[in-house]
Amino acid sequence: MHLYIHVPFCARRCSYCDFAIAVRREVPSRKFVDAVLSEWRGWQREPAWNESPSLATIYFGGGTPSHLDPMELRRLISALRRDRPADPDAEVTIEANPEDVTASSAEAWIEAGVNRVSLGVQSFDDAVLGWMHRTHDAAAIPAAMSVLRSAGFTDISLDLIFALPEALGRDWARDLDLAFALNPEHLSLYGLTVEAGTPLGRWTSRGQSTPPPDERYVTEYLFAYEALQAAGFEHYEVSNAGRPGHRARHNSAYWRRAPFIGLGPSAHSALAGRRSWNVPQWAAYERLIVAGQPFRDGEELDEGQLRLEQLYLGLRTSDGLEASLVPAAALDDWVVNRWARLSGGRCRLTAEGWLRLDGLVRSIA
Ligand code: SF4
Repeated sequence: MHLYIHVPFCARRCSYCDFAIAVRREVPSRKFVDAVLSEWRGWQREPAWNESPSLATIYFGGGTPSHLDPMELRRLISALRRDRPADPDAEVTIEANPEDVTASSAEAWIEAGVNRVSLGVQSFDDAVLGWMHRTHDAAAIPAAMSVLRSAGFTDISLDLIFALPEALGRDWARDLDLAFALNPEHLSLYGLTVEAGTPLGRWTSRGQSTPPPDERYVTEYLFAYEALQAAGFEHYEVSNAGRPGHRARHNSAYWRRAPFIGLGPSAHSALAGRRSWNVPQWAAYERLIVAGQPFRDGEELDEGQLRLEQLYLGLRTSDGLEASLVPAAALDDWVVNRWARLSGGRCRLTAEGWLRLDGLVRSIA
């Protein structure tokens, strides 16, 4: 079983973020852990609960999980493991903001059983970080890495955002070099998207910010693809690259369509062929949990949706899709255009293909 826990609390909203978050100066860690454990116990009454005997991965995402009181995090992980044993080598990841990484928090995470950290870096440029409304500056990033290494973490991922507005003058090559210089085991790269309802969405609609041209996204993506290969990373999924042996096992389970349970506001689950999701707002989630009526909406995927999911998830990884699932004419076309390669009976998209992932999937769905 794979377990995702959504920790919704953030110090403030980043300019581009449309996630389900709750801005809090003081994080209600105890209340949060109580609520999540209550939801977890509810899952134990589901018939599908016994499908998988143990926990293979636990992922604390957000929001900002590193804002949680480490002692409460420890209480949570201990309770989860009491109810369902974890594999001896279970991957336990926490997403962290650099400014939350201190010697005491890092040691407490290790003691709680966390063995992987995904650090929200985004850029090494202070002007860019300020524009993003991030709460850290560039100097906090190497400091956090050094503290994490001293505490014993040997599996660290860095998140970076590319395709920023031209006016920011962001030097993408420099940011990648600075990331490589920190020797992370894993990198996740996301293109900036402008979402309605975010500060960036408002700046854009008022003409105060101009999204970069599409070519910038393409150029920076392909540049990163080459740079990652040259630096010894395997680009194993559209947005993710790891050193050999360091693929993110939790996210890889999603792409393999393995069953998972999501706890916390807005968390999604997929178990026994059914998808379900929780109410997004923390306040509503807590109220429902306290009332003993967790709200979980859901759906059974029909054949067409299952095929779409299979195509989309398969083609987004370097493991690719069984070639027989792609119509022969489309496969020929993709190979001729260098959007895909055929090897070992599988169709694997190239970086050029990944840039067209949505369109390619639509063309054969
Ligand atoms: S820290 Fe992450 S989740 Fe929180 S506002 Fe920023 S981008 Fe969104």
